[in-house]
Amino acid sequence: MKSGWVDRDAEAIVADGTKAGVDRDLALRIYTTRLLGRDPKLVLHGGGNTSLKTRMRDLFGEEVDVLRVKSTGADMANIEPADLPAIRLLPMRKLRALDAIEDDELVGIERANLIDSTAPNPSVEMMLHAFLPHKFIDHTHATAVLSVIDQPQREKLCQDVFGGRLAFVPYLRPGFGLAKKAIDVFENEPACEGLILSKHGIVTFGDNAREAYDRMIAMVSLAEDFIARNRKSVAVRASARAAEKVAETAARIAPIVRGACSERHEAIEGAWRRLVLEFRAGDAVLNFVDRGDLEGISRAGVITPDHTIRTKNWPLVLTIPEPHRLADFADTTRQRSQAFTEHCRQYFERNNERAGGNKIALDPLPRVVLVPGFGLFGLGRSKEDAIIAADIAETWVEGVSNAEAVGTFESISEAEMFDCEYWSLEQAKLGKRKDLPLTGQVAAITGAAGAIGAATAKAFAAAGAEVALLDVNRAAAREQANAVGGHALAVTCDVTDAGSVSAAFDKIAEHFGGVDIAVSNAGAAWQGRIGEVDEEILEKSFALNFYGHQRVAQAAVRIMRAQGTGGCLLFNISKQAVNPGSHFGPYGIPKAAALALMRQYALDYGADGIRANAVNADRIRSGLLTPDMIASRSKARGLSEKDYMSGNLLGREVTAEDVAQAFLNHALALKTTADVTTVDGGNIAAAMR
Ligand SMILES: [Zn+2]
Repeated sequence: MKSGWVDRDAEAIVADGTKAGVDRDLALRIYTTRLLGRDPKLVLHGGGNTSLKTRMRDLFGEEVDVLRVKSTGADMANIEPADLPAIRLLPMRKLRALDAIEDDELVGIERANLIDSTAPNPSVEMMLHAFLPHKFIDHTHATAVLSVIDQPQREKLCQDVFGGRLAFVPYLRPGFGLAKKAIDVFENEPACEGLILSKHGIVTFGDNAREAYDRMIAMVSLAEDFIARNRKSVAVRASARAAEKVAETAARIAPIVRGACSERHEAIEGAWRRLVLEFRAGDAVLNFVDRGDLEGISRAGVITPDHTIRTKNWPLVLTIPEPHRLADFADTTRQRSQAFTEHCRQYFERNNERAGGNKIALDPLPRVVLVPGFGLFGLGRSKEDAIIAADIAETWVEGVSNAEAVGTFESISEAEMFDCEYWSLEQAKLGKRKDLPLTGQVAAITGAAGAIGAATAKAFAAAGAEVALLDVNRAAAREQANAVGGHALAVTCDVTDAGSVSAAFDKIAEHFGGVDIAVSNAGAAWQGRIGEVDEEILEKSFALNFYGHQRVAQAAVRIMRAQGTGGCLLFNISKQAVNPGSHFGPYGIPKAAALALMRQYALDYGADGIRANAVNADRIRSGLLTPDMIASRSKARGLSEKDYMSGNLLGREVTAEDVAQAFLNHALALKTTADVTTVDGGNIAAAMR
């Protein structure tokens, strides 16, 4: 492992700090914390922590000794001074006299001793930083170190690998007990340069930022060198598979996996708890999922305790998906997923009883799925969480593979994993996240670069859904996806081309794992007096305004049925479907057919839990009703533009956002299908009933 320290960068951050009132020690604490945080082989997604002991003035202007330690869950890669809350050091050190302390009480004492009472909670490993005497302390979960210490012979291996430079602290759950143990061990070996926290990670310390950092890099390098020297030869997968073949298979099997790893809502009929997927198939993953002992090794447990809150303690292991026998794969996937959730429930019950019976069970759905011959999926309630689970799963694969290459991988016990997974302070790292109405769902929107499509994508994302923006104009779709932010996906899709629609939905299935809501919105208007219009114009309009909807619905239903968790089809029909305007036949007639199409889907797929509804909107500023058209039409009617746009019963202009809300309401109305919602400010001639 190479050091990332660059003198010029370090001095630059010190110079910037001086301008902002940040002293040299804190500036360099920020610098090396970021260096550590940026290397996924050291820490991942909020793991690890660092600290600095310094002096600062309190509210009364008195100078006091403080510990500045990373706040819980903060990402080291982007740390800022505010992410290192300052806490009075002496009261924390006095706690060493206590035998034990309740978690809640400890958090209360910490908060009472914060210099800034509004600062975030310090890391769960704060006490370890407080008890150790060193000015700078770095703590990581370096993958190479874990491969050395997740072993039955870990103490002897540490002696061999680190040559006595690190003192060995036996496993205890992070927190007060571990902190007390660590300071005892250190005081027995005061010449050490750091500590090994058994089956958990590594601590290095120093008088200055550079010393603590350099020691971390040196120790991790020793572990890496040891693995490289002692690695038994491992088969490297020779057959590089064609990337498009992998993507194609991922698109086919992801909805099966996603559906099997969903859970019916116990209280609301028709509602599901769903997860979003992230697929990985690098060489190391492929080597791992092809291991003959995959099932056994997958029951071995996590490589470091705090991964359990992201990946659970074990992955779900599936069978090889044979492309021509996907129905069999679906059967075994469902059986195995059920066995997994059952195992999770039993694990909870037996350990909750042991731990006093006052814990609340987390959902029993897997967060990592291993597919032999194929790759792995990370699963999460959002795309972000799925990515984190996949990143940690890849690190787990590397950690376990290397542990096995130099010995035998051994994790903490089931009881120890439970105590971490259900530790209130670990759960607090995930924050008190409240689900939004569409959390866990994936929505695909066609015509997403247009006004209504873009507004719908924004509304669905704000309601918690992951969104895919489909448009024939890729650049415009990308622009709107960027405006939505998060993990919004832009996909090129020409709904007049069946192959393009099918490929777009495959892309969504590969990227998010499937689709739950399809908003078929793409459309364009053609005019002509029906008795005289060219057949070619009618055909063009039907290709987009009828067959486009059919292709989108068909592609979505294929994925929804593979998931087996219902779904929602939404169609943008027009006022023209029920209230034809003169010379608008080429537009209105296929829209009327699209209304019938919606009803047919509602009828044919209701038994699958798939709902079909439509929104009937009128007079929205969009690509179909441009500023020029508004100007000429209002002029022709002798109205102001404002009066023209609000020429309805309510006298209110209808916006793309109003239409988006109507789609959203349909997506949430689990007992409504074959319905048309009118969003036109009131037009009796276009009323549905
Ligand atoms: Zn740790």
